[in-house]
Amino acid sequence: MKDNLSSINRIKQIMKEHSFRFTKSLGQNFLKDDQVVDQIIEQADLTKDDVVIEVGPGIGVMTEKIAELAGKVIAVEIDKNLIPILNETLKEHDNIEIINEDILNLDLIELGKRYFPNQKPKIIANLPYYITTPIIMKFLESGFSFDSMIVMLQKEVAERIVSGPGNKVYGTISIAVQYYTKAEIVFEVPKDAFIPEPNVTSMVIKLTPHENPIVDVENHRMFLRTIKGAFSTRRKTLLNALSNEFNKDNVRKALELAEINPSERGEKLTIEEFAKLSNAFLKVEKSS
Ligand code: SAM
Repeated sequence: MKDNLSSINRIKQIMKEHSFRFTKSLGQNFLKDDQVVDQIIEQADLTKDDVVIEVGPGIGVMTEKIAELAGKVIAVEIDKNLIPILNETLKEHDNIEIINEDILNLDLIELGKRYFPNQKPKIIANLPYYITTPIIMKFLESGFSFDSMIVMLQKEVAERIVSGPGNKVYGTISIAVQYYTKAEIVFEVPKDAFIPEPNVTSMVIKLTPHENPIVDVENHRMFLRTIKGAFSTRRKTLLNALSNEFNKDNVRKALELAEINPSERGEKLTIEEFAKLSNAFLKVEKSS
């Protein structure tokens, strides 16, 4: 019997057969711990009715197991050297579509129309650390509907994403992600679950899109500008930090309209307060 794909011997054997070398710049740290693979996939609660998008399948360690549980898997892998490997390791499954593309260049809406027009996919990804945030934001901001997103990322980024007001790691990414989804930490993954071992500890998080918006934001771009301004310098008061992004008089007026103390710091504001403030900026900028 063959070792399963996450076995270290099998990974080494496949790499040797295909003369494959890890590309560090693509964040290639493959899972070699079967239990961790199972724990991640369990979070998606898969059935044969599900379509899954996997970002960065690597040699297919997670893809194989996802294909056994789900109806269809769309695996998007940037590295063309991994495509012949995936074609071999996954050849016994006829429900996997391998797409050799940079996920950041892929039109998700088109992908949906083509492969799952009437369904919200589940997303599962052990993400390359160098582009974790752009990938998550792409899924959130593209207007693409999905059921849930299970992602493994750097522990520090996971903690930032789920943190709330008053926490020293609370910032733009916390608000941006929590605006769209309920964000939860699921479990921590030690470095020795990977080959090669990364320099950082990893964490798995689960993002579940809100059914209805949790705050009333009149203009999305203004909301993002408000957050960007508020966190442009952490030590400064809101009045000064927001003045990096807006005219200072307008900052005073908007803070007053939103009933927010100008000497408060951005990291103390809730998502509701950011929404209120961005709606106030919209009014003030229109009338100025
Ligand atoms: N899922 C595999 C596993 O758990 O063993 C591999 C995970 S590895 C951390 C990240 C994978 O994402 C690599 O296979 C890498 O080549 C791929 N990747 C990196 N950047 C990508 C991008 N922009 N679009 C799609 N895949 C990417």
